[in-house]
Amino acid sequence: MAKIKPAARMAELPPYLFLELDRLAEARRKLGRDVINLGVGDPDLPTPDYIVEAMMRAVKRPSNHRYPNYLGSEAFRRSMAQWYHRRFGVEVDPQREVVGLIGSKEGIAHLIWAMAGPGDLVLVPDPAYPVYATQAALAGAEVVTLALDPARGFLPDLGSIDEQTWRRAKMLWLNYPNNPTGAIAPKEFLAEAVDRCRYYDVLLCHDNAYAEMTYDGYRAPSVLQIPGAKEVAVEFYSFSKPFNMTGWRIAAAVGARVAVEVLGLLKSHLDSGAFTAVQEAAVAALQQEGKSEQVFARMNAIYGARRDLVVDGLKATGLDISRPLATFYLWFPAPEGMTSAAASKFFLESADTVLTPGRAYGPHGEGWLRIALTESEERLQSAVERIAAAIQTRPRVG
Ligand SMILES: *Cc1c(COP(=O)(O)O)cnc(C)c1O
Repeated sequence: MAKIKPAARMAELPPYLFLELDRLAEARRKLGRDVINLGVGDPDLPTPDYIVEAMMRAVKRPSNHRYPNYLGSEAFRRSMAQWYHRRFGVEVDPQREVVGLIGSKEGIAHLIWAMAGPGDLVLVPDPAYPVYATQAALAGAEVVTLALDPARGFLPDLGSIDEQTWRRAKMLWLNYPNNPTGAIAPKEFLAEAVDRCRYYDVLLCHDNAYAEMTYDGYRAPSVLQIPGAKEVAVEFYSFSKPFNMTGWRIAAAVGARVAVEVLGLLKSHLDSGAFTAVQEAAVAALQQEGKSEQVFARMNAIYGARRDLVVDGLKATGLDISRPLATFYLWFPAPEGMTSAAASKFFLESADTVLTPGRAYGPHGEGWLRIALTESEERLQSAVERIAAAIQTRPRVG
């Protein structure tokens, strides 16, 4: 047998959570079970027609078949700048303050590599989208986690970070509206983060993947709306969730020049940008006046109704679940006496429903579960009934 070994650093990486969950769900499907997957946050509805049609025109154009511009096409970057102005009232220079990405995940991972290494420190919320901490660790940086406490509205206590830690920190990651908790951040909190990052020369990285997925009249801000933010803050804006475009891989990083520049430099050595036809479709997504707003309104009406159905249904079973103002996630404590992994396994086996164990988002996710509202109301109704029945039959502990 050949003894080929991957790099030692790969031992840092656990298997990607959703791969594991998919495997378990698939095993049950093979047994003939009808599994309802509320695990991965991947919109179930199709990309709107006007975007697909723009893509079909773009894909036929031979000039789009060549290597893309590494940093994003001029048209794409200009369109992002115009969007930030129209949506958030924020001015950015499309040349120096916008870089196109092959999805936010790509940009998040590579910005960490471009900013932090051995001896550096990265501030990461817990629970959080796993990419921030895993990439920082892989890059050899020290990860300091900031607990998101329900009593604080799942906002980290920035005042509790000591002076030494601030001084060694290279980046602070924030994500509001938040995955996995569904929490939102008031502008005052973002302003506090900008202030502290300016004082300590820390790059504030705001993942705004759920900016458009909001309910009950709530509108999510951009961190770049905070005066002075552009000096220290970079925001990730993804087309994946708002336009049902997860498979297309298109997003942008917008803001602090230092971040845009170093990310562009790394990417120019490493990938060759997003397919230009996809960028062209993204431009169409934003630019056809009124269309994007209609898409958001339609999607939020759908997710809002799903949210109410599941929240009301699960509350009735005695689960302690609150109604988020944003994201398509519900975050709630596992039934008493169960770890999040045990609860996830329990609901898969006794309700054929995939719920994500909160522990997968960090130690502070222990004891919690996440539901993604990415199935039809009919399927969600069945899931609620199955979960209710499973809870009924569960042997009581203690
Ligand atoms: C879904 C998600 C992303 C990934 O976005 P892509 O643009 O599809 O890579 C990034 N951050 C968070 C918090 C997400 O939930």
